[in-house]
Amino acid sequence: MNVILLGAPGSGKGTQAEKIQAELGLTHVASGDLFRFNLKNRTELGLLAETYMNRGELVPDDITVAMVRQRMQEPDIQNGVLLDGFPRTLAQAEALEKMLADMGHQVDAVIYLEVPDDEIITRLSGRLICRECQTPFHKVYNPFKTCPFDKCNGEYLYQRDDDKPETVKARLETFHKQTSPLVDYYENQDRLIRISGLGTIDQVGEAIIRSLQQAGHRSP
Ligand code: AMP
Repeated sequence: MNVILLGAPGSGKGTQAEKIQAELGLTHVASGDLFRFNLKNRTELGLLAETYMNRGELVPDDITVAMVRQRMQEPDIQNGVLLDGFPRTLAQAEALEKMLADMGHQVDAVIYLEVPDDEIITRLSGRLICRECQTPFHKVYNPFKTCPFDKCNGEYLYQRDDDKPETVKARLETFHKQTSPLVDYYENQDRLIRISGLGTIDQVGEAIIRSLQQAGHRSP
């Protein structure tokens, strides 16, 4: 199965991706993580993306598509991918379809995590991330100071620059303007599954997995 996680920043895509990939055996590919990895290593791509990321804007489609295309050529994608944060524009959605078609695959389901803007702002202003494994935590809802996973050796959690209030507002505007048209796009293709992102992490995760299992039974 190839699945897209669609939703505003802070809607829970990254948190749920961990659970879904473990449960369904999909490879998690998060475009934001790929950009942050490049930024951390000061690569040409990372430096190019930095200005856009700091302003809460989307990195141009050609750069983003080239980066994701490269990742999609790795062997672990063959068993199915869970895309998180990509596509974010109609042009990216069309590029993805072509990428998957070239591999003999297709988009099987699109999970749209619905969360109201005021809740997004509360979540992002308290979000903390592990620099090593990129797992998101929250100052109040999921409170850790250091990453609890052994593989990360007690790495201190940090607040992403783009989770500061001014940038959060810009990112939400970007979502409504450029990414929300994808909701209609995938709805018209009958691939969209709407899930409320407002329950507990476990409740939302279970609703996603149940709906993907049903979608998996329906697909040829
Ligand atoms: P995220 O971690 O998904 O919130 O992404 C962080 C930032 O990376 C975004 O605000 C964008 O600047 C950039 N980014 C991530 N994914 C994309 C994408 N699919 N298209 C363009 N920019 C992206």
